[in-house]
Amino acid sequence: MKKPRYEHIRKQDKQVYAALMGEEKREAEGLELIPSENYVSQAVREANASIFTNKYSEGYPGRRYYGGQQYTDVVETIAIERAKKLFGAKYANVQPLGGANANIAMYFALLKPGDTVLGMDLSHGGHLTHGHPVTYITKIFNFVRYKMKDPETGEIDYDDMRRVARKVKPKIVLAGFSAYPRELDYAKFVSIAREVGAIAVMDIAHIAGLIAGGAAKNPFDYGFDVMTTTTHKTLRGPRGGMILTRENETIAKQIDKMVFPGLQGGPHMNTIAAKAVAFGEAMKPSFKTYAKQIRKNAKAMEKVFKREKIRLIGGGTDNHLLLADVYGSLGLTGKEAERLLDDVGITLNKNAIADDVRGPLDPSGIRFGTPAITTRGFKEKECARVAELMIEALRNRSSRRALAAVRSEIRAMCRTFPIPDSFR
Ligand SMILES: *Cc1c(COP(=O)(O)O)cnc(C)c1O
Repeated sequence: MKKPRYEHIRKQDKQVYAALMGEEKREAEGLELIPSENYVSQAVREANASIFTNKYSEGYPGRRYYGGQQYTDVVETIAIERAKKLFGAKYANVQPLGGANANIAMYFALLKPGDTVLGMDLSHGGHLTHGHPVTYITKIFNFVRYKMKDPETGEIDYDDMRRVARKVKPKIVLAGFSAYPRELDYAKFVSIAREVGAIAVMDIAHIAGLIAGGAAKNPFDYGFDVMTTTTHKTLRGPRGGMILTRENETIAKQIDKMVFPGLQGGPHMNTIAAKAVAFGEAMKPSFKTYAKQIRKNAKAMEKVFKREKIRLIGGGTDNHLLLADVYGSLGLTGKEAERLLDDVGITLNKNAIADDVRGPLDPSGIRFGTPAITTRGFKEKECARVAELMIEALRNRSSRRALAAVRSEIRAMCRTFPIPDSFR
């Protein structure tokens, strides 16, 4: 891999340069299994680091508050058109600064204070922004939760969801997750939303790349009205958010108005340029191969965990992520497992499991996934080996020799599969 040299930072700012070099080394020498992370191409990084960061461009293409928008209009329009094509949407807003910002803008655009949202319980896989009590948005809107019927299969309790929806009359029925390994029954979500007159929204932050690459169903094909997403997870773009509207122009206009001027100021045009570049990459046939491989690789890891009798929440995976009950199966906490694996060169995160007997700061589970290692070129064989090494490390946690052997094998894998600059 051709290393970027950061010449100017090196000369001008030793402290930041040292941290940057540390991060370069950390990313190169460890395996990234956090399912919300990925490695972007050099082209995406160039766009993200470009002079578009200099420009104020409040407003939207063709209707800006400041002059000098010949080129910002071009890149934002490219990003919008590519996003629409990738997801089969009629409208796209590419300005949200992140996934949380996209969700907040979506809520404010579609709801009045006090209105109700029916979303997935956090401990069953939902995201903080879907109504967790620690978030401020819960002081403004009323969040009601649905859960899995059975954590062993991952099936959502749709009957209960319908009952609750009839009772609380939500204005939004919200699908989407950050720690749920199975596919949702989109038709059921939409039918429940339609029955109670709610807008059907799916937060595709985690699986956007799978949808764009044709490796997962597109919620729009089942009648969802709006999708929110991040652009930096499986979609492999710069950090950022996006809101897509399938066909309803009124909704799309409300969303545009709420993103700007409702909530945000000037868009980060360097990030939008990087989004455009990433969406261009996602339109290539090679991205389809990538998206399929993410799933195959997750299945390969599932197989090893099942063979080794480690409990997986949802009973396995249909997407890119897995959630293992290490406390129940191996007798160590999620936090302990996270730290131990970090020591051998595997980065992942502790995570609460459904109806966790432990607290959120040291829960029972670990969450991991394959988007980043698939970008690195790992196939099923390597992923199965990583799963074996994880289990080996967790089982033999008191043997220094065993841990050293795992660490050196991980290091060797990282050398064989360097982080690529571009994707074929
Ligand atoms: C990651 C994630 C978000 C938040 O994205 P940020 O860019 O971190 O703000 C929102 N929703 C879901 C489902 C996510 O997984």
